[in-house]
Amino acid sequence: MATITLNPGKERPVQQRHPWVFSGAVARVQGYVGRGDAVDVCDASGEWLARGTWSSGSQIRARLFTWNADEPIDEALFRRRLERALATRIWLGYSGEDTACRLVYAESDGLPGLIVDRYGAYLAVQLLTQGMAARAELITGLLAELVQPRGIYERSDPDMREKEGLPPGEGVLWGEPPPEQITTRQPGGLVFLADLRAGQKTGAYLDQAQNRVRVAAYCAGRDVLDCFCYTGGFSVAAARAGAAHILAADTSAPALAMLEANLAANAVGGVEPVEADVFKLLRQYRYEGRLFDVIILDPPKFAHAQNQIERATRGYKDINLIAMQLLRPGGVLATFSCSGLVSADLFQKVVFGAALDAQRDVQIIERLTQAPDHPVLLTFPEGEYLKGFICRVL
Ligand code: SAH
Repeated sequence: MATITLNPGKERPVQQRHPWVFSGAVARVQGYVGRGDAVDVCDASGEWLARGTWSSGSQIRARLFTWNADEPIDEALFRRRLERALATRIWLGYSGEDTACRLVYAESDGLPGLIVDRYGAYLAVQLLTQGMAARAELITGLLAELVQPRGIYERSDPDMREKEGLPPGEGVLWGEPPPEQITTRQPGGLVFLADLRAGQKTGAYLDQAQNRVRVAAYCAGRDVLDCFCYTGGFSVAAARAGAAHILAADTSAPALAMLEANLAANAVGGVEPVEADVFKLLRQYRYEGRLFDVIILDPPKFAHAQNQIERATRGYKDINLIAMQLLRPGGVLATFSCSGLVSADLFQKVVFGAALDAQRDVQIIERLTQAPDHPVLLTFPEGEYLKGFICRVL
């Protein structure tokens, strides 16, 4: 096996079990290492630190799997880690034939580069590193054996694959191809249809599952505006909670069509889909003098790289400011950011800036984060990306 020697002073994060080795930390590589191969990592003095998989050309040169010199990166390791991840989800209460949850959350489950989402009898898999791509067959076989799904479908994020020098990865890996609509049961007794093949991400935004129920608790009898609604996660929850009227806005026509199907699946109505750009729609409503009791802002990721953070904060401030202006006194703003690069602290500052400019007193009522099937490993705080506030706007 090849060995990576780190530059002097670069051993600390590895010793603290952070699972990434950046290219700048690597002094030299001894021996031949192919894409995705296992490699040992040593400090500048040659002392063994950890073992991981190699990614040629990527900014993150190695993903670390073990800090135990006697533990090889083999089938037994993958089996142990997968079993542990599955056991955690069962322990969290994600069971039942039509459950939907993230079964494997990469680094947080000791499996850097691997994401597995379960939608009922089907799995959506993302192989995001050279190490995982090289082990596609091994992982597929283990998942088939341990989960016994009807089918396993690859739906790897193409941008992440590109950063690793990997071609796009999509298609059936094992078993039957998933149907266009898979019915799943999610927290709060809500039913959602997911399209693994054509939907965004791997078909649904599972990270918001519990938050939809939290936000819905403020919607009974209220006038709700659900911005960036996708297939209506928040709208369906609000309708079930007895909202008086809901406007659900998104730019994606297929997502709005699925929203209609989700409303039917939950036997609720009272939701008016609006195909529109939220940035423009909010301005139009302000011009028309429209007011709401509850506004939900769940935009897509605005910051994909360090140099986009400032632009992202401007985007967040813009929509939060106008949303506050559109709320009746005592109204509720449920506002989210899924940009990992925007910290909860920074996001709070942005919402603060919006409140100042809107000249409204705003109280944080609840702080929200990603669902428990997206756990955050203490040695890898980067695994935390979703934050939200439920605010009362006075
Ligand atoms: N709230 C949803 C998830 C939202 S994901 C849920 O609970 O499931 C973000 C959504 O924003 C996507 O559906 C995307 O189509 C939409 N989107 C992106 N840019 C937009 C824009 N400028 N205006 C309206 N929708 C937009």
